[in-house]
This record gives sequence, C-alpha cells and structure tokens, in this order.
Amino acid sequence: MTPLEALHQAAAALVAATPALLGFAAYPVDAAAAPQDAVGVPAIAHLVADFAHVAPTDARGIFTAAVLAAAPLARWQHTYSEAEVGADFLARYGWFELAGPDGHFRTDALRAYVAYWGRGLQYDWHEHEAEELYFIAAGSGLFRSARQPDAMLVAGDTRLHAGFERHAMDTDRTGILTLVLWRGAGLNGVPAMSPKA
Ligand code: ZN
Repeated sequence: MTPLEALHQAAAALVAATPALLGFAAYPVDAAAAPQDAVGVPAIAHLVADFAHVAPTDARGIFTAAVLAAAPLARWQHTYSEAEVGADFLARYGWFELAGPDGHFRTDALRAYVAYWGRGLQYDWHEHEAEELYFIAAGSGLFRSARQPDAMLVAGDTRLHAGFERHAMDTDRTGILTLVLWRGAGLNGVPAMSPKA
C-alpha cells in the first residue's frame, strides 16, 4: 500500500469513527486512485515539525501520522495569491485534495481536502458555495463566522459552514491540521476572499 493509499484508508476510518463527519458525508473509500505528480510546498516542513510527535493511537492520530507520511507524495496547492494573503502565509499553508473530482482518489460525491496552516496566521474572511465541515486532526485554531460565535477548536472538534457563510480562522501558538469535507452545490467552485467592507 502506498502512503497515499494508507492515508485514504485512514481518512475512511476517521470518518467512520467520528459521528459528526459520518453525518455530513460518507467517505468514498472505494474511489479509484488517480495517480498525480507530487507538488510540494514549503509548509510541509512546518507540518512535520508541528505534528511529528502525535502518537498514532486512535483514528485521529493514525490519520495525522498518515498525512505526514504521504505529504511528500501529495499534489499540494494554494488557493490564493501572494497579493491576497502575503508571502509568509503562502510559505506556511497548503492543502491537497485527497478524494474528489480532482483528488488523488476520484469521486463526484464530495471533496475531501487535507489542509494545514502554520502558527500565528490569520486566514482572512472568505466564502464559497459548497457546504463545508472542518475536522481538527491536530493543533488548534480560532474559528470565526458571520453566523456563529467564535470558537477555539482543538483536535477532535468540528465546525460546519453553510453555503456562502463567510468564515475566517486564526492560528496562535500551534499550527492546525484539518480534514475538510465539501458537499452539495458548488462542489466545483473555489473559495474566494470576501470583499472588504
Ligand atoms: Zn471554507
């Protein structure tokens, strides 16, 4: 089994073990592998430094360890430009689509992203049409939303965003590793920074 296949299995096990995730979407464990060239980002080194200590003793820890093992083989991406978020943000954040229409494993049923932000970053207000569920695999972050109270989320917590719900997230003294699921209308859209008030 390749590290990406092991991560796919770990994601399926994590969803199955986490009622909030399972209630949002079934994980497409049978999605076929679609080999893609690896694309690295500088954030991988920060991801490993932040979470190499996490013990693979439960589904969340196994998922986190599997992300670190698969990170060098994944097709990492940045949604935003340096003009939008700055060079430091781009150097310490990144995501890849594990399962989905463009993922390492192909399905049209949902998108499952692995996303990481380093410590002390402000992910500014943004929005997208698809419904979204964040699951915190490791680390923590202050989640803000136009429709919900602020919440400091830690490993094991989830946060649901409705379609077009504006949201933002700040990290403090630790980075954050998340599994992000998208479903419904707008599955082929992308997040966009909200217009400045
Ligand atoms: Zn979002």
